[in-house]
Parts: sequence; structure tokens; C-alpha cells
Amino acid sequence: MLRSYKVVNRTVADALADHGLAPVDVKLVINTHLHFDHCGQNPAFAHAPLMAQRAEYERILRDRDEVTEWIEASGMRFELLDGDTELAGDLRIVTTPGHTSGHQSVVATTGMGTELFIGDAAYTRAVWNHADRAHLPDGQAADIDVWHRSLTNLRALEPASVHFCHDG
Ligand SMILES: [Zn+2]
Repeated sequence: MLRSYKVVNRTVADALADHGLAPVDVKLVINTHLHFDHCGQNPAFAHAPLMAQRAEYERILRDRDEVTEWIEASGMRFELLDGDTELAGDLRIVTTPGHTSGHQSVVATTGMGTELFIGDAAYTRAVWNHADRAHLPDGQAADIDVWHRSLTNLRALEPASVHFCHDG
């Protein structure tokens, strides 16, 4: 298990309020993958397209766990993507399979340079910096070879900043 993994009971509305925003201000939601801790507040964004890879959606239909049942029961509808997708000149989605078979990451070009939002492609900066196959956290890679290739591709983008979901 990840040592730094903590469930924080905080609504996305509260988190957005810290930035002067409300859920209705969010025009687009990108789910890097469909583990519960990365899509659990999707219903707050019923007005916005929810973007996931088709391969990821097909994975949860195959796996049929509690997330699948919850997604089906909620009636949420995804905009399913087939591979890399350019959303704007400065915003694109790249497929980064390995953590799950349909994992994707977000590449943004900002004043800082290239910023990456990598979901669980690497849980922590330590994994990003030193992807030692023998000492990966449990659950980091469903397919280790595919996962390693995705990490190599992300690093090749030479990001100015990488945003992790389970660091700290
Ligand atoms: Zn995950």
C-alpha cells in the first residue's frame, strides 16, 4: 500500500472554492483513469463532458468491480477517446497505459513550459525520478513493461512541472 495514501473527505466544491471557482465553472473533466479516487466526484460535474479513454471504460466493464456498478447506477456519461487527443493548441491528452490499460495523462503548455498532470502514471516524485522495477509501490503497474514505456514517453516531454496525485 502507498504510505502517503490518505482518504480526504473534502468535496470538490470546497477545493474549487479555494480558487474562487464552483463546479459549474468547470467546462471539461478529464479522468486519467477510472479508479474510484480519480472519478469519485464526477457527479458534481454532470454539466461537463467527462473524458476517459475507451480502453479504460472497456476495462471497468471487464473488471466489473464496485466502481463499475456505481458508474452505471449514476447514469454518468463519458466522452470516450481513442488515443491521443488535442483539445486546444496548449492542451492535449496522451495515452499512458500501464497503471491501468486505459490510463491517460494531460499535457499543458503554460508560461512555465510543459506541465504534466499524470494521474497515477507515477504515484510519487520518487517513482518518477527512479522507477526501480523491484521496488514499486503495490498497484503502481498492472502491466510493468507497458507502464515503464509510458513513463519513458512522459519523461521525454522534459516537463517543467509534474503534478502527482499521491505525493506528500
Ligand atoms: Zn489508480
